[in-house]
Amino acid sequence: MALFAMSIAENLARIESGIATACQKSVRSRGAVKLVAVSKTKPNGMITEAVAAGQIDFGENKVQELITKSPAFPDGIQWHLIGHLQKNKIRKALPFCDLLHTLDSLELAGQVDRIAGELGITTKALVQVNISEDEAKFGFGENETAEALEKITNLPNLEIVGLMTIPVFDPDPENTRIHFANLRKLRDRLEQASGRKLPELSMGMSHDYEVAIEEGATLVRVGSSIFGERG
Ligand SMILES: *Cc1c(COP(=O)(O)O)cnc(C)c1O
Repeated sequence: MALFAMSIAENLARIESGIATACQKSVRSRGAVKLVAVSKTKPNGMITEAVAAGQIDFGENKVQELITKSPAFPDGIQWHLIGHLQKNKIRKALPFCDLLHTLDSLELAGQVDRIAGELGITTKALVQVNISEDEAKFGFGENETAEALEKITNLPNLEIVGLMTIPVFDPDPENTRIHFANLRKLRDRLEQASGRKLPELSMGMSHDYEVAIEEGATLVRVGSSIFGERG
């Protein structure tokens, strides 16, 4: 497959051009969208290649990988935790996590807030919404999010900057468009109701990031199209 013959720099350039095209199509500025390169299961050498090509943001889904990989890179590199955070790993994870994408329960939010306070840090986070009401996915239901957010936004050591979703998988991105649009509409309603800004929308992966951008994504999480399939 051609993907494997391409370098990480070439893959990043291809994704960059896909992002630029999607931004143009939806009359958004390129600066409104950030690429999070999902490096889970991939070695530091591959991350180094991406950094050399100018990539700044990386996503990991396991705390163990986040805490072993991130210290090898300069402070300017940004680390996103995109997997479910187990409560017994919060304390280990927070010092290495620039943005937590997966605040998926009130209990987790309360514990992250408490531990961030103990560590003397503020944790930036996104509230995960199970927008396609997929049984297998973590996150708040669409109708639970307003109430949850009201409780979470008052926690002093958490800074909620937006929403994240992982819609049910569909190989045709056009079928997922509705879920991306629904997350954006939910965000707009929540902003209106609360008067608080929720600027970030984390949605879209390798096969559907362009559609996600057309529907308002500000953070796209792309792994296999950059680093190759995972074993
Ligand atoms: C693995 C993962 C991705 C990246 O998936 P690809 O299909 O490899 O781009 C994005 N988001 C989450 C939450 C993931 O776990």
